[in-house]
This record gives sequence, structure tokens and C-alpha cells, in this order.
Amino acid sequence: MHAPSLPDRSIETYADVTGRDRLERLRSLADALGDVRILHVNSTATGGGVAELLRSIVPVCNDLGIDTDWLVMDASDDFFEVTKAIHNGLQGEGIELTEEMKATYRAVNDRNAAEIEDEYDIVVIHDPQPLGLLDRLEKTVPNAPIVWRCHVDLTEPDDEYLAFVSEYTRRVDHAIFSRSAYADEIDVPTTSIVYPSIDPLTEKNRSLDEETMAAECDHLDPLSFEAPVVTQVSRFDPWKDQFGTLDAYRRAREEVPNLQLVLAGGMAGDDPEGLELYERVAAEAVDDPNVHVLTDLPDATVNVLQRRSDVVVQKSLREGFGLVVSEALWKRTPVVGSSVGGIPLQVEDGRNGYLVEPDDTAGAADRVVDLLEDEDRRTAFGANGREHVRERFLLPRQLADLLDIFVEVLN
Ligand code: UDP
Repeated sequence: MHAPSLPDRSIETYADVTGRDRLERLRSLADALGDVRILHVNSTATGGGVAELLRSIVPVCNDLGIDTDWLVMDASDDFFEVTKAIHNGLQGEGIELTEEMKATYRAVNDRNAAEIEDEYDIVVIHDPQPLGLLDRLEKTVPNAPIVWRCHVDLTEPDDEYLAFVSEYTRRVDHAIFSRSAYADEIDVPTTSIVYPSIDPLTEKNRSLDEETMAAECDHLDPLSFEAPVVTQVSRFDPWKDQFGTLDAYRRAREEVPNLQLVLAGGMAGDDPEGLELYERVAAEAVDDPNVHVLTDLPDATVNVLQRRSDVVVQKSLREGFGLVVSEALWKRTPVVGSSVGGIPLQVEDGRNGYLVEPDDTAGAADRVVDLLEDEDRRTAFGANGREHVRERFLLPRQLADLLDIFVEVLN
């Protein structure tokens, strides 16, 4: 296990974006928790939404006086191949789950669990990868409630994988999901629903001055914001359907000939499939100079892309929540997204973007064109998106929900 290095965060700095009453509520919840020690565990320090969330939540909790650690599992690719199969299985597409895969999962979890030496009052396990820690934690910290924070889209899980994961989830003290529909099939004792959130003060989401914007735009050359730009920011993962986005772009281009597409993606440390998919997407787009397949962009560049694009697309086939949707809406960019998982929580059809069926690339293209042809609508949708995120999907709200749950599980 290793502890990622974290930025400093002060709760006070959120007052401007979120209002004082929300901060006061956080302070009183922190008081109610007293001197508890909390541990979060996940399987990657970089790439993907969970790392993004923890990078903000953990330092803010510490600033509130809640002693909070974050440990990341150490593992090699054979473990991550198993856990990616578990992730895919829980989202509905499983290869056979063999005894050898289960043994790899258990052995790596056991080795990591043996490295947790400190005493904690609550352990929060993120996603299925570290659930196997339970076998040992039940003995080493028998009195600490274990909370499972599931970020996966569980609407249509594969039965074999669901059964395997349920062997663990039925033993946790509490489970948190991003949508109520995800809690229907899995075996868990008690559940809460907490919507994830973005951190408005990070390099990825903060407002940028003109000079920084211009410098970042230069980095993106030959992409030009003088012509229309549609962007999808996602890990290279089959569930994100970059090929569907390419198809929608090609259709939209028939109506908007100078349209450009950006597919920006990264490779999460716990995702061995990423590189291969990136190469396939890049090969598919290689003949079109208006398609830009970009990897591992700095956060400020992602910020500018989400801010300056005319439309952001999120054409996922499954989506636990999809922080990228709120990230774009917060920057006043309308989003055309599939009506799967957490996307409909964020995209209000006809108010801040449009929802389409996940297999409807023609519909996605039509919606993109509608928005590209109507600047007033883009501006109005952008303003609506900003307020929708301010009300529901900023960090202080999520943190208050989590602290409420921690108070409850300790009582
Ligand atoms: N992200 C990024 N660069 C990339 C791709 C993704 O910084 O090239 C970030 C993105 O901005 C977001 C997170 O990774 O903060 C992805 O979270 P989301 O919930 O959308 O999807 P997940 O990857 O967790 O399935």
C-alpha cells in the first residue's frame, strides 16, 4: 500500500462558490465525529473519477480536523486484469471468472491488508478492487465499521460476478451507491445514495485568466477554437464508447463541415485495457486531421478543453456517475450524453444539454448539430448547467452527505 501525496486544501476557500451555511454544516459534522480516524482505500492514485474525488476529499477532511488517510493498493497487471474483469462483469459483460482469477484477487488483497498497521475507526473501501481486504480486516480491526463506496454502474450486472462480489459486500457494515437503482440486486446490509461531486477549486475546474487560457490553447495547436469543437474526455475504456462518439462526429460533420472532434483520454493506473483501446481509436481517426486523439493532458489543458469546446459529448454505454459531465456543465458547456447511469442525474434534457439512447449515434449527431447551430441556446444551456452543478454536484455537498453517514455508522 502507498499513500499518494496530496495538495493542501482549506475548507474556508469554498465559501465563495458554495455559501457559508454549507461550510457551517460541515464544521458541525466534523465536531460530531470528534477524534475519529478514517481510512480510504482504492486501487489507483491517478486517472479516473475515484482518484479525482479522493484527491480533494481527503485533504479537505483533514483541514476540517477529521484525521483521514488514503492508501492505494500495490499490485501488478495480473491483479488489475482480474479487477478489470470484475468491473466489466458488474457492468454487465463478464468473461468467465475462473478459480485462478479469484485466487489472484484474494492473494493480492491479503498482501495489501497485511500492510495496514494503524488503527482506524472507519475504513472506506472504494469499488470492488479492495473488497478482498475484508478477509483480514475483519480480524485486525474487528470494531471498525467497514463502508463500501461503490462507484460502478450496477444496473445490469453479470450474475457470476455479482455472486463473487456479494460474498464480500454482504459482510460490510454499510454500502454507498451513486444511484438508488444500483442497490437493487447486490447483497448489502444497509445502503445510502450519495451523488459524487467535482471540486470547483482544482486546476481542472477553477476559472482561468485569459493569459493561461491562451497559453493552453497554444498547447492544443493544431486544434482551433475558431472553428466548432466537440469534445469527449474519458479514459480509453470500452464503456466510454469512443467509437460511437467518432460515428456521431462523422454524421454531424455532414452538416457542419469544419467541425473538429477531440477525444481526450488517459490511462488509469489500474486499467490494463487502456493502451490497446487508445491505439485502436487513434488508428481509426488517423486519416482525419480534424479528429484529435490526445492522451495524458495536464489538468489545466482539460479545463480549457471543457471550457472552450462548443459541445461536450459523453456517449457512455454504462456510467457509474461521470464526473466529466459535471466538469463540463460547471464550465458552462452544454453536454450531449447517453441516458445511462449517472448521466441523466446531471444532464437535464432540453435545459443544459440533451440525452440520447446509448446506441443512437444519429440522435447524438442531430443534437450536437442543433447546439452548434444555435449560439443563444448554447449560452442559455451553459448558464443552466452551471447552476445545476452549483446546487447539486460540488464537493461540500458530497462531503456533508458522507460525514452524515460516518456519524451514523459510528452510532
Ligand atoms: N480525466 C482526465 N484526463 C483524461 C481523462 C479523464 O483528467 O484524459 C479525468 C476527468 O476529468 C474526470 C475523471 O478523470 O475527473 C473521470 O471521471 P469519471 O467519473 O467521468 O469517469 P471514470 O473514469 O471514473 O469512469
